[in-house]
Amino acid sequence: MKSYRKELFFQVPTRREFVHITPEVEDCLRESGVQEGLVLVNAMHITASVFINDNESGLHHDYEVWLEKLAPHEPVSGYRHNVGEDNADAHMKRQIMGREVVVAITEGRLDLGTWERIFYGEFDGRRKKRVLVKIIGE
Ligand code: ZN
Repeated sequence: MKSYRKELFFQVPTRREFVHITPEVEDCLRESGVQEGLVLVNAMHITASVFINDNESGLHHDYEVWLEKLAPHEPVSGYRHNVGEDNADAHMKRQIMGREVVVAITEGRLDLGTWERIFYGEFDGRRKKRVLVKIIGE
């Protein structure tokens, strides 16, 4: 069995952003040489997500509005976590949007649904963060 590990780095200039990372994961898959197996992609931070959905800007705007309703950034003082920091909302947004995705690898390709794309969700950006890509298979 082959095993491959790589860390991807993201430094988003804003507090929140969604970044399309399917091409980076496909690069990892090519590098790994795995034809049949699984790829795990997970955020290595508790204020960022990896998730799969549509690569459509309207939807990403809708996510932003929805997440702000569920866990508004302001007022910062409304969260007990925000003692010396201001990212309680980012922890909650991460919880909702998820930590990781697992995608099947078939014949050397990501076996995604027609409209499925992989995204990095940043909720407390403006600093360097890591995403782990782990690929196992043959
Ligand atoms: Zn925090």
